[in-house]
Amino acid sequence: MTGTTPLREAVIDLGAVRDNVRTLRERVGTEHVFAVVKANAYGHGAVPVARAALAGGADRLGVADLAEALELRSAGIVAPVLAWLHDSEPDFEKALRADIQIGISSQAQLDAVAEAAERAARPAAVHLKLDTGLSRNGVSPDAWPAVVRAARAAETAGLVRVAGVFSHLSGTSAEADTVQVDAFDRGLAEASRAGLDPEFVHLAASGAALTLPRARYNTVRLGIAIYGLSPFGDREPSEFGLRPAMTLRSRVIAARRIPEGQGVSYGHTYRAPTPTNLALVPVGYADGIPRQASGRAEVAIGGRRHPVAGRVAMDQFVVAVGENGVAVGDEVVLFGDPAQGVPSAEDWARAADTIGYEIVTRLGPRVTRRYIGE
Ligand SMILES: *Cc1c(COP(=O)(O)O)cnc(C)c1O
Repeated sequence: MTGTTPLREAVIDLGAVRDNVRTLRERVGTEHVFAVVKANAYGHGAVPVARAALAGGADRLGVADLAEALELRSAGIVAPVLAWLHDSEPDFEKALRADIQIGISSQAQLDAVAEAAERAARPAAVHLKLDTGLSRNGVSPDAWPAVVRAARAAETAGLVRVAGVFSHLSGTSAEADTVQVDAFDRGLAEASRAGLDPEFVHLAASGAALTLPRARYNTVRLGIAIYGLSPFGDREPSEFGLRPAMTLRSRVIAARRIPEGQGVSYGHTYRAPTPTNLALVPVGYADGIPRQASGRAEVAIGGRRHPVAGRVAMDQFVVAVGENGVAVGDEVVLFGDPAQGVPSAEDWARAADTIGYEIVTRLGPRVTRRYIGE
């Protein structure tokens, strides 16, 4: 590594994203696939990942909010984009002018989108979202019959085109999934009775897309799996032929040897059981490294895995390398593809009692992204 290498770097393999989408398309077999690139593509970089996912065979993009959708448009991405999580006073007119499809979770949103369509003098493509049991976003089952009828009326008036109907699973259990799929089927039947004929029907995110064929319909929304991480705490991405796209790396900026009994980092939660070599790594919780993983996670240095010693601080943590030699400038891989002998984002998640999603998404602004495999 040279002096110009960033202190902290996330290397994103866009070839992995492409391959993962291709692998998933083959496995899932639906006509349509959303690549979900919300939250800056789970920390991987929305625009480059969106391009790679489209190149791998996704035919549309999903994001949470309108600002994320507009960012894709500003970058010149023309693929269909759906945004489903809206402010209390969303600028739907701006979204329509940018040709963004809008997820609808209430009668109020449907009314607002119809008004915006009138002002913009162009019909809105909407996806109606039914709450089938997640109790988060989505039209409640009680309100659903009225909303689908109103949507049909707006469609007849030329203000709205109901392009899709969708919902989202809670991932609680096979039984809970079944209850939700049944509720979704009833919602679809109701939409159909109201005269709607949506082109895109979608319920499954990565988890159900991989393991619950009944939830696939003709479209799935794939997030975590395209990044090569697993939606399941107990199943590795490699089981599904997926490979992690992100490698988080840094380098050793100081090395020292401490005597037996010496404490390390704040609170001395680690004390060297024997004389020990230490390496200082300039990445901390400001960069998204969970403090919760203090004393539990491992990193790879020189092809070997070593434990984080003591507390993760804001800007740095210490690694205990025992009797192994370590030198200033040595590469440190925090996580990446476990097939290469390095810890995975899921390993960090287990060490921090969280999920792989959070590990990659929470990377802080000091971590630079570098793209390979374009
Ligand atoms: C984030 C999200 C997804 C993607 O979920 P993964 O588990 O990452 O595949 C799909 N649909 C909705 C509504 C989401 O919010």
